[in-house]
Amino acid sequence: MSDVVIVGGGLAGLTCARRLQAQGRACLVLEADEVVGGRVRTDRVDGFQLDHGFQVLLTAYPAAQRWLDYDALGLRRFSSGARVWCDGAMHLVSDPTREPADLLATMKAPVGTLADKMKIATLRSAARAGTLDELFSQPETTALEALHAHGFGPTMIERFLRPWLGGIFLDESLTASSRMLMFVMRMFAEGHAAVPEAGMQAIPDQLAAGLAPGTVRRGAPVAAVGDGAVTLQSGERIAAGRIVVATDGTTASRLLPELPPTAWRHVTCLYFAAPVSPIGAPVLALNGTGAGLVNNVAVMSDVAPGYAPPGQALVSVSVLKDTPGDDASVAGQVQAELTGWFGPAVRDWRWLRSYRIARALPVRWPLERPAPVAVRPGVWAAGDFLTTPSIQGAMESGEAVADAVLA
Ligand SMILES: Cc1cc2nc3c(=O)[nH]c(=O)nc-3n(C[C@H](O)[C@H](O)[C@H](O)COP(=O)(O)OP(=O)(O)OC[C@H]3O[C@@H](n4cnc5c(N)ncnc54)[C@H](O)[C@@H]3O)c2cc1C
Repeated sequence: MSDVVIVGGGLAGLTCARRLQAQGRACLVLEADEVVGGRVRTDRVDGFQLDHGFQVLLTAYPAAQRWLDYDALGLRRFSSGARVWCDGAMHLVSDPTREPADLLATMKAPVGTLADKMKIATLRSAARAGTLDELFSQPETTALEALHAHGFGPTMIERFLRPWLGGIFLDESLTASSRMLMFVMRMFAEGHAAVPEAGMQAIPDQLAAGLAPGTVRRGAPVAAVGDGAVTLQSGERIAAGRIVVATDGTTASRLLPELPPTAWRHVTCLYFAAPVSPIGAPVLALNGTGAGLVNNVAVMSDVAPGYAPPGQALVSVSVLKDTPGDDASVAGQVQAELTGWFGPAVRDWRWLRSYRIARALPVRWPLERPAPVAVRPGVWAAGDFLTTPSIQGAMESGEAVADAVLA
């Protein structure tokens, strides 16, 4: 019999296991897949590293700082700010406090008034005030309502804030919680967006490598959670003193019907190999036109060279809209659209692969920090669906449940 069985080897389950073992408690992680990491995965295709969807680590995440060795991950940073495609040209919008050389270009960019651009700084200061607990106990509105309340004008919202925040929340409508807005602003203010040199999967791989040998059992999907035992799809029964269900929200509510169902935000991520980088800088490019399929573009190999083989560039494109049609026809539409942004050289791009991720981010309202509640006596749930849908939320939720189990 295992002391604690954790169902799911995503970031929540792995962090839970790390915390338990750090306190001397034995545990077993049962992961359905052959690979750990859940939604944080990287495929290797023709020498390119393809993350399952465009994803970044915000280095200020407190739980990531507690559990990850950033140096060993070889983190590569995005520069702050973005390029915004609108009015038929690409415009630079940077944080002048971090990139003073970009001040003039930022001031001139047709993405809002000077006052709008100054308001980014005041929003960041507001987001940094007080503790994280205080931030998560602020009255909650939608992110869009909060931006209006902060005084941003329509051009700033439509050309910059909607594509930027929409790409983070995977929600163009910006109906995510204002607390998520303030949390994200705070994390950007206190750190950087970064990816590991070896791809996002290096994060769960590093968490798993820190566990005692034999802790993770891969290819072990759990079919049922009962009192004091879990049953695998194979029929095998594993007794456990304590059980933590750390799957995605939809699976968790199937295994534990006491939990409410999870609604999801979706995204399609397309990857192209390009002979030359269309951007040439580690920066996000946003669609500020309000038209077309594309929301944001990043050249991953400009951020971390290991994402592409020598002499090639890896372009990642995120689409938040529904994408009817087969993958090849959507890739063709995206390529045609980006020819408008980057010129005829885009026709030389080679489409590598698309990821349609139907269950990317759970919709969470109200948005709170994880307060672990035993779903049944001796059975807990952990995961981003119970708190902020993010790497921080998943890891913090795993930690909080480990503490509850230890208590
Ligand atoms: C496209 C995309 C972009 C994102 N961008 C960002 C970003 O930029 N920054 C950020 O902070 N966050 C981002 N996120 C969110 C972040 O990746 C997730 O919040 C986090 O990885 C969730 O971790 P989790 O452990 O809660 O769940 P999951 O990652 O879903 O892990 C659950 C695990 O349980 C396993 N499992 C499922 N069913 C069973 C079963 N029956 N038996 C055993 N095991 C099972 C799964 O295989 C999986 O390994 C993004 C997510 C996606 C998909």
